[in-house]
Amino acid sequence: MFPSQLLLSSKHHKEQILNPIFEPFGTVLFVNEGFDTDDFGTFCGSIPRKEGPKYTVKEKCLAGMQFATLRQGMASEGSFGPHPNIPILTINEEWLVYIDLDLGLEIYGRSTTIEVCHAQLHYQDAAQLPSFLSNCSFGKQGLVLKNASSGQLLEKGIQEPAQLELLLQQIPEWQIETDLRAHMNPLRQKNIAAAGKDLMERMQRRCPNCAHPDFSVQKVSGQLACSLCFQLTDNYQFLEYTCNYCAHHQIEERTDKKLEDPQFCNNCNP
Ligand SMILES: [Zn+2]
Ligand SMILES: [Zn+2]
Repeated sequence: MFPSQLLLSSKHHKEQILNPIFEPFGTVLFVNEGFDTDDFGTFCGSIPRKEGPKYTVKEKCLAGMQFATLRQGMASEGSFGPHPNIPILTINEEWLVYIDLDLGLEIYGRSTTIEVCHAQLHYQDAAQLPSFLSNCSFGKQGLVLKNASSGQLLEKGIQEPAQLELLLQQIPEWQIETDLRAHMNPLRQKNIAAAGKDLMERMQRRCPNCAHPDFSVQKVSGQLACSLCFQLTDNYQFLEYTCNYCAHHQIEERTDKKLEDPQFCNNCNP
């Protein structure tokens, strides 16, 4: 399992979100204050991220371990972007990785959600300010302030109404956005916790052949039959588990359903 003290390469107090998940299993996460994860890209766009979050989280984890001269470590990385199928929706994807150089482990936890606080308001829509602030739970949710024409970041981590009011008076052409950093974004905190639970579950699912963790579903296959006409539907019947270490393969039938509802049947509900 994890070491009792585990390095988390991350800023913005993510150990406070994850420790309630890890502590019951005997692991306390700590951060190395001297290690600056901003080198891997920031949400305000001042340092662009070069690669996707899965790549970035691994690089960040390895760099943090090297910095601390440790053989085990964890890192966290998140992103916001348009939903791949419904682009008007924003999706938040959170990744965690646990790396153990001695055991050759590289295990990822992931969670995606469309329950996000990712919005902006422009000075020309100032009439909507009260509803904007209430919709995004301003206070618990922090804001960043930008210059509307240049896009320049002027202030971040705004959580006090008096501070916001003063800033808006000083900057006539303002644009405010929700702060996406974890300690300023409660919905993101919830999604990071979900990624932590996913990682913990993967650590506990061991291969029946070699006992390595992360014996996970790699693909689905087969087709469930319709419960009315018994023709095959497009929904899968089997879960296929593969061990990343010894390649042990196991096919299991779905336990949640044996037949598909006729509403998903191309014959009964074309
Ligand atoms: Zn195995
Ligand atoms: Zn049918």
